[in-house]
Amino acid sequence: MSLINELIQSKYLKSPEIIDAFRKIKREDFLLDQDEGMAEVNVPLSIGHGQTISQPLTVAFMLELLRPEKGDKILDIGSGSGWTVALLAQIIGKKGKIYGVERIEELKKFAENNILKYNFINKGIVEIIHGDGYKGLPGYAPFDKIIIAAAAEEIPTALLKQLKVGGRLVIPVGRQYETQDIVAVDKIGKDEFKEKRYPGFVFVPLVKSHNA
Ligand code: SAH
Repeated sequence: MSLINELIQSKYLKSPEIIDAFRKIKREDFLLDQDEGMAEVNVPLSIGHGQTISQPLTVAFMLELLRPEKGDKILDIGSGSGWTVALLAQIIGKKGKIYGVERIEELKKFAENNILKYNFINKGIVEIIHGDGYKGLPGYAPFDKIIIAAAAEEIPTALLKQLKVGGRLVIPVGRQYETQDIVAVDKIGKDEFKEKRYPGFVFVPLVKSHNA
């Protein structure tokens, strides 16, 4: 069975729009050349610089929690290979906008090159920015949704500020070398949040800025 059908059968993939994006945006386009043929394997894979493209099961789970919609403005911190950015761009469509932030310059270029295969950058749907995402992207806030595929020891307050009321943040929280919780946070009022935790995941760390 194909990996996508397995993810549907195991209920990690549920929404028609997210399933459609998984079918159209090929993971193989976001891997290093040496890993050609590994796209269908449900494991994280190295993208160099000590970083990984996440496991498909984890990406499916996080996108289902994020509930992206057409026209959303989204922030993806730690864009890595660009796979998640491209999946989200496919879902939000041409009225949407997604900003990816990546602290490793070579990976910013890697993501842009990978995403170029899908025309999202020239249509103005995707922009990848080289920088520290721990503080979010204040100049472009507020966002409907924020997603992060790197674990923070605690939820950075800047990100909660940069969410719209009614918006949602999905972030792994926990220590390095332990398993982490994926946390979904709804902003229900200016300073009011509701969160739900899903334990048992493993991510690379979100590098914390010295002055955050
Ligand atoms: N979603 C990505 C996987 C990212 S792995 C994909 O689909 O491929 C996590 C990424 O977060 C790495 O590329 C790492 O360099 C980046 N990262 C870690 N801390 C960061 C920070 N403070 N700001 C921006 N990027 C960060």
